[in-house]
Amino acid sequence: MTKTLDYQLGLVPYSRTTLVNKIKAQLSDHRFQHVLRVEQTAIDLAEHYGADVERASIAGLVHDYAKQRPDAEYRQLIQQEKFDPDLLNYGNGIWHGVVGAYLIEKELQIHDAAILNAVRRHTIGAPEMTTLDQILFVADFIEPGRDFPGVEAAREAADESLAAGVRYEVANTLQFLLARQQKIYPKTIATYNAWVAK
Ligand code: GDP
Ligand code: FE
Ligand code: FE
Repeated sequence: MTKTLDYQLGLVPYSRTTLVNKIKAQLSDHRFQHVLRVEQTAIDLAEHYGADVERASIAGLVHDYAKQRPDAEYRQLIQQEKFDPDLLNYGNGIWHGVVGAYLIEKELQIHDAAILNAVRRHTIGAPEMTTLDQILFVADFIEPGRDFPGVEAAREAADESLAAGVRYEVANTLQFLLARQQKIYPKTIATYNAWVAK
């Protein structure tokens, strides 16, 4: 039997259909549909801004792969794999990207550093972000299923430039968290400081 590989660069060691099915098996239908929309939005941004479309597609597909793992599994992994112990003071919102990238590499055999970094940064961002990091960060926020106050302004900012999209998003997210008196992960603040000054 021939192995169908429809990603050309060999970043995924099996077919795209296999990847999609592996992701689907991990997620609710609601979350899976979000993932497909993020993939398409990331592809559109990559085409528009001249970035690697294949990496954008894969990053979009895998970004929330580990979103529905139990907290106990994350707590154990953070200790066992010696992640920043401060992560234990936060929750799934932070873990599924930072620690989720570890599960993606291990379980999906995706070893591409650019894709894994984009996943690690997709929620909290980073002071320095590659084009792919920015694409995934913004695509997750503006995908067509998103409907929150400010999403239209976020889409307009992303049309202007990727950096404008990131800047809008970091400010909006920080305001959202502060308004709800949620704990802010220190890297989220570092991201904000770096991008508002840009
Ligand atoms: P999703 O996985 O598609 O729902 O989107 P994200 O990965 O971007 O966000 C996951 C959640 O983490 C969202 O509810 C964010 O508001 C939240 N979040 C982002 N930064 C922080 C932070 O610094 N602290 C806390 N407590 N939550 C955060
Ligand atoms: Fe996420
Ligand atoms: Fe997401």
